[in-house]
Amino acid sequence: MMPVLRPLPDWISSSVEERKKASLHRETEVIDAPQSISPTIDGTPFLSFCSNDYLGLAAHPTLINALAEGAEIYGVGSGASHLVCGHLSPHDELERALSDWLGVERVMLFSTGYMANLAVLSALGRHCETVIQDKLNHASLIDGALLSDASVRRYLHADLSSARKLIEKQSSPSMVVTDGIFSMDGDIAPIDGLINLLSDSKHLLIVDDAHGLGCLGDQGLGTLDEQGIAASSVSALIGTFGKAFGAAGAFVACSNAMAEYLTQFARPYIYTTAMSPAMAYASKSSLDLIRSKEGDELRSRLNSNISLFKECMASLPFELMPSDSAIQPIMIGASDRAIELSAALREEGILCTAIRPPTVPNNQARLRITLSAAHRHDDIKRLCDTLERLAN
Ligand SMILES: *Cc1c(COP(=O)(O)O)cnc(C)c1O
Repeated sequence: MMPVLRPLPDWISSSVEERKKASLHRETEVIDAPQSISPTIDGTPFLSFCSNDYLGLAAHPTLINALAEGAEIYGVGSGASHLVCGHLSPHDELERALSDWLGVERVMLFSTGYMANLAVLSALGRHCETVIQDKLNHASLIDGALLSDASVRRYLHADLSSARKLIEKQSSPSMVVTDGIFSMDGDIAPIDGLINLLSDSKHLLIVDDAHGLGCLGDQGLGTLDEQGIAASSVSALIGTFGKAFGAAGAFVACSNAMAEYLTQFARPYIYTTAMSPAMAYASKSSLDLIRSKEGDELRSRLNSNISLFKECMASLPFELMPSDSAIQPIMIGASDRAIELSAALREEGILCTAIRPPTVPNNQARLRITLSAAHRHDDIKRLCDTLERLAN
């Protein structure tokens, strides 16, 4: 029997049509091989510059073996939320290892970074008059604040005097929130400056270092370490396993008192199934790798790729953004032009999706080039040579 489709209201398809007309339509595409710098689509190999697999760990044999071993020992599903009976020993071991790495009292696990940010901002925002955010903070931080009753104010990107003006206006407890490395721009937040502005302890400081942890700093300790700041000097530090760690899930690093509060009040922690114990086991092996000599080698390869890319691009007629991280956006402006350049690269076998509004502000569409420790120097040169040809 043919299924009968229930008719939908017109706005469902008219909204999508509007997106298409504005060159803002998006769709998924099937990658039919493991995530890597050389994925295949319909069997055709590409050279990829758009994943967040910064250290090339997503399909690393150590992680693949750990995931299989974790599943063998602890099964696949956690079966419940952390607070009911879904908190298994690999979760506990991963939390302890992360606490030890970061030098904090406690770490709590979350299913994704998006959920961790909803959890932290909604639970803490209940007691804050204002959530003060960098204008370019990740969508999940913006959405998390919307779940609280706090009013939301945004300061000019990475601008301490703009942040100071907002902080000085707060008579009641408030919260300042920033990305460590900004996800679409690749630049670094002035966290030391924010700490100085927040000498009054009634205000909280939250840092989301999704793109810094694993990549920057001694042992991959991230943006804070890069700036000589201990993780314990912020109220909560958020990290994810889906990027440099090459796995899935996220964590919040904080004090015992903060973890106790979040455990009671963070609904996206309480009302969701704990991450797979096998994934926790694999993430622990990724952490071990990131802290090891092999991790140091991957970070130094990544840094040398970043330097080479910036060097090769310096003489080309493209506008790079002020970034020293693995995120190296080429600013294009108009969405249709960004799509054209992305399509032209693709013709040449290079994969880099165009990033358009609303992910970035209007008229700031870009090619967000991401570099990986897995790229060889020849790969970087091929990208730059191709861009040079396309520019002419
Ligand atoms: C990717 C990202 C997240 C979301 O993490 P997921 O684990 O992918 O949900 C949160 N914050 C920032 C800054 C990110 O770049």
